[in-house]
Amino acid sequence: MKVENVELAKVIAKPNDKFPEPLHGEFAFVGRSNVGKSSLLNALIGKKVAFVSKNPGKTRTINYYLINNKFYFVDLPGYGYARASKKDREEWRKVIERYFSERTWNMKALFALIDSRHELMESDAQLLEWLEMIGISPLVVLTKIDKLSSPELSKQLKYFEEVLSGYSIRELIPCSSVKKEGLDKIWNVIIEELSK
Ligand code: GDP
Repeated sequence: MKVENVELAKVIAKPNDKFPEPLHGEFAFVGRSNVGKSSLLNALIGKKVAFVSKNPGKTRTINYYLINNKFYFVDLPGYGYARASKKDREEWRKVIERYFSERTWNMKALFALIDSRHELMESDAQLLEWLEMIGISPLVVLTKIDKLSSPELSKQLKYFEEVLSGYSIRELIPCSSVKKEGLDKIWNVIIEELSK
């Protein structure tokens, strides 16, 4: 899909902030801070809209990017930042719980981003377990695959297929925002969902 128009339509910062009108639906992106979420959003959109950070862990807002005046990309706040305080973690939990309790009816797909280079982190597993519990099957995007050699990538793919087999995952999508790999697969899911 060609992104002809994008705007930051809404920033949810406070518990009372209202979600935007539903339009044709929304696609949410979640992951540990520094996993490459902003880079992925920018790569999908083909323009720098989300802020790529060298100092992870700060944003606690939900950002709604309106695409082609039709649907949204929802940039959910990153989790698992090692230096985050207990208060920060609590804030994150509140924001995310509010999103999933109030807004999944408009969500056409959830992309859960996981760094392809490492083992599944505790915080990733916690999120997946929680999603399982509330009945949401995410698509797992394995990020930064350009940083792996081809044998390393095969090894990691096998590892993730195994470790994620216990969860109901819709699809596993290896991705690189730098090399623009896997983006078409994400777009295919979006196009398919929008055509339903
Ligand atoms: P966020 O905190 O999840 O939004 O992550 P960012 O998009 O800000 O990226 C965190 C760091 O990873 C930045 O230094 C990015 O340049 C880098 N990065 C993100 N995606 C990729 C990728 O696909 N390949 C490589 N090599 N680096 C990436």
